Amino acid sequence: MHEGAIIRSLFEMATKIKTEEKLDKIETITVIAGKFHQIVSEVMFMQFNLMKQEFSGFEKAKLIFQEKEIKVRCEDCGHIFQIDSPVFLCPNCNSLNTEIISGKELHIAKIEGIRK
Ligand SMILES: [Zn+2]
Repeated sequence: MHEGAIIRSLFEMATKIKTEEKLDKIETITVIAGKFHQIVSEVMFMQFNLMKQEFSGFEKAKLIFQEKEIKVRCEDCGHIFQIDSPVFLCPNCNSLNTEIISGKELHIAKIEGIRK
């Protein structure tokens, strides 16, 4: 259960931010996740709603989930392209010498809540 582990670590990060910012009740958590992680958003929301009961102050929290496309740069010809499946072949010169430049992100962008 890949999404379950991701959600748990997001709640742990969110709990730290909640303490630092002295928030009492969390309303929204905005998460940015690159498509590289192959997260199924329906599963993500389901896990979020199940798990939020375990974390104090998160009982009414809503998840805002923003996906980022995978972008790859060819090291040989400099071409930048987007992929949907893990095929890292440059469509311009057929090189496999490519590097992911975005789509690997996985972090909390914003937490909103009510202060004590
Ligand atoms: Zn190329």
